[in-house]
Amino acid sequence: MSVHIKHRIRDGSIWLLTLLGISALHRARTRRRGPLVRVIAFHHIKDVEWFERTIAFLVRDFHVLTPEEFHLRAFDLERINVLITFDDGYASWVSRALPVLEKYGVTAIFFIISGLLNKAKDQAARQAFFKERLCIVPKPALTWEGAAMLVAHGHTIGGHTVTHARLSTLSAADIEKEIHENKHALESQLGVPLTDFAYPFGRHSDYSEESRNSATKAGYTHCYSAESGFFVDEATDIPRTLIERGQSTASIGRWIRGGYDVFALLNMFK
Ligand SMILES: [Zn+2]
Repeated sequence: MSVHIKHRIRDGSIWLLTLLGISALHRARTRRRGPLVRVIAFHHIKDVEWFERTIAFLVRDFHVLTPEEFHLRAFDLERINVLITFDDGYASWVSRALPVLEKYGVTAIFFIISGLLNKAKDQAARQAFFKERLCIVPKPALTWEGAAMLVAHGHTIGGHTVTHARLSTLSAADIEKEIHENKHALESQLGVPLTDFAYPFGRHSDYSEESRNSATKAGYTHCYSAESGFFVDEATDIPRTLIERGQSTASIGRWIRGGYDVFALLNMFK
């Protein structure tokens, strides 16, 4: 089955689940344990108009948290809280995302692969990195100057390893190297302490208990996966819902309200 058809079946099913009130039940169950909080993740921003439409929608329909509010658990008790994050390191974060975030007064966490930034200005090395490490079509990469600009605009930087390694496949020594060297490079180049770390690829099978221990040892207090769900507490891996390129605001809204979690739990439609 093509990805396109799979996605159409998935989106139709999520729409139906929402209509039947299953998402509302899921929210009611989660709310018994505390406020509703969801962390979402973007990657490369291809279309600035789509991105602005999405941010305007998030600001209007949800309570968008700053990273500080998230760390302090300063949550809105009535509305769904949303924390915005970005993964990897793309030039589009500065050229397209930053002006929109500024316009709407939104701050986010940017999880950065330090090895990619080191290659940002070497086209051949950068392209090879995207193909081999991220398994995606090469895109212009964030530079260290760009990362400093994000910091200067009040955004938070998080760790995402040196080479976007699938941590579950590495030895304990290599896991430590990936996590510690990345944190050290970002902190020394940007002059900010890091407390947030996102596992590359981010599905349960992509990281291990050892990855979590190594991140904690490095001084990270918040570790983020890419498994969809509502936030429960920082002592466990923090779930994140990955927003797809070009996804409609109606669909993003259904995912944030919990429609996608059921499918994610069943490991379907990935
Ligand atoms: Zn990544």
